[in-house]
Amino acid sequence: MAWDFETEPEFETQLAWMRDLMREEIFPLETLDLEHDQLLRVIAPLQEEVKKRGLWAAHLPPELGGMGFGQVRLGLMHEILGQSPLGPVVFGNNAPDSGNAELLAVGIEATGREDQREHWLQPLLDGKLRSAFSMTEPETAGSDPTLLQTRAVRDGDEYVINGHKWFSSNGSIADFLIVMAVTNPDVHPYQGSSMILVPADTPGVEIVRDVATMAHPEQSFGRFGNHAEIYYRDVRVPVANLIGREGEGFVLAQKRLGPGRIHHCMRWLGQSRRAFDMLCERAVSRRAHGSLLAEKQTVQNWVADSMAEMHAARLMTLHAAWKMDREGASAARLEIAMIKYYGASVLFNVIDRAIQVHGALGFSCDLPLEHMYRAARAARIYDGPDEVHRQTVARRTLSNYTPHDVPSEHIPTRREAAKQRFAHLLDEATANL
Ligand SMILES: Cc1cc2nc3c(=O)[nH]c(=O)nc-3n(C[C@H](O)[C@H](O)[C@H](O)COP(=O)(O)OP(=O)(O)OC[C@H]3O[C@@H](n4cnc5c(N)ncnc54)[C@H](O)[C@@H]3O)c2cc1C
Repeated sequence: MAWDFETEPEFETQLAWMRDLMREEIFPLETLDLEHDQLLRVIAPLQEEVKKRGLWAAHLPPELGGMGFGQVRLGLMHEILGQSPLGPVVFGNNAPDSGNAELLAVGIEATGREDQREHWLQPLLDGKLRSAFSMTEPETAGSDPTLLQTRAVRDGDEYVINGHKWFSSNGSIADFLIVMAVTNPDVHPYQGSSMILVPADTPGVEIVRDVATMAHPEQSFGRFGNHAEIYYRDVRVPVANLIGREGEGFVLAQKRLGPGRIHHCMRWLGQSRRAFDMLCERAVSRRAHGSLLAEKQTVQNWVADSMAEMHAARLMTLHAAWKMDREGASAARLEIAMIKYYGASVLFNVIDRAIQVHGALGFSCDLPLEHMYRAARAARIYDGPDEVHRQTVARRTLSNYTPHDVPSEHIPTRREAAKQRFAHLLDEATANL
C-alpha cells in the first residue's frame, strides 16, 4: 500500500504563511520575557489573523466543531508551531487546553450533554477559559494509571472527590480541572475510572504549590506552564460534570493521547530543526585549529546523523498520522508508541549537539538552546515514560512470534528438510552429473 503524506496546494500556502509568521512575529516576542497575561494582550492581533485564516483551534475533527484537517495536516502545522513555545498559544491549540477540548468534545458526542459545550467547551475553544488535566498522583506510579487512588463517590446528584494530584499543568491558572478518579473500585480500573470536570473555585480544591522543575527551576506560582500540586478534599460537583459516561475514563484518555502524541512529536521536530539550524550556522561560521568547524569530521557526523535522525522521525510520525487518519487511533497504537520514544531521543540528541558546537555560548543563556535542552528532558517522561512505550512496541511485536525449540532458521535442520522435499529433483540432478 502506498503511503501518501501530500497535502493540497491551498494548505501548503497556509503552511508557508505560518512559517513566515513564526519567524517574523513570534520568534522576536520570545525575547521580551512577558508575563503570560501581557503576552496575551500583545498576541491578540495575531490570534485574530489566525482566526480569519481559519486556523484557530483547528485540532478538533469536523463533527466535533473543528476544521477537519486530519492528523497529517495537523502534524505539519504543529511542526511549524512547535518551533516556539508561543506558537501553539497564538493558534489556540496549546496543551493542555487542546487535549481537554478534545476530551469534552468526545464526551459531549457520546452523551449529547450540550450544556457542557455551552459552559465549558466553547469558551475553552474561544480562549476565554483555561483548563488543566489532573491525573498523576505523587503516591502512585503515573506510568500505571490503574493504580490511581483518587476517589469520586456518588452522593445523590453529586460526586464527592478526594485525592492528591501533582503535575497538573496549568492547574494554578485553570478555570476548571479535568480530574481522573476511581468511581467504582469493585471492577477493573479500565472500567471503574471516570473523568470529572471540577471548577477550580469549588470548595475543597486546594492548590498547594506549583512544582519547580528543570524547565523552570525558580519557584513561582500561577504562571502559565507551571505544574500544580493539588489536594481534592470532599470536593462536591454535580453528576452532570461527568465527562462522557461513568467508567469510561480510560477510553477517553486513549482518545485524547493518540492525536496528542502525534502533535507532540511534530512539535519536537520543529524544535529539533531550529536547534539543527543553529548547529549548522555555527559550524559554517566558527574557525578553530586551522579550519571551519564545518570541515571537522566530528561536526560533519553531527550534521549527517542529525539530518538522518530527524528525517526518520519525521517519516515515522507522518506515517503514524496517516495511519490514524485512515484506520483510527487504536490501529495506529504501535506506530504512535514508536514515535513517542524515538522522537524524544532525536530532539534531545540534536539539541545536545547544537549546544556542543557552540561551546560556552551553547551553555549560556544568550542562546535559546539551554532552555530547549532542559525542557526537552521532560519529553522522555510525560505522556507516558519511554520505557512504557518501548514495552508496548516490544509486546505487540513479540506477540506475532511463536516459540521454537530449534530456531526456524537452523541450517542443519533446514538442510534435512530441503533434502526430503527436493529428493526427486536431487536424484535427477545428481544422476545427470
Ligand atoms: C513536564 C510534565 C508535564 C506533565 N503534565 C501533566 C499533566 O498535565 N497532567 C497529569 O496528570 N500529569 C502530568 N505529568 C505527569 C506525567 O504524566 C507522569 O510523570 C508520567 O506519567 C510518569 O509517571 P510518574 O512521574 O509517576 O513516574 P513513575 O510511574 O513512577 O515511573 C518512574 C520511572 O519508572 C520507569 N518505568 C515505569 N514503568 C516502567 C515499565 N513498564 N518498564 C520499565 N520501566 C518503567 C520509567 O523509567 C519511569 O520514568 C507531567 C509530567 C511532566 C514531566
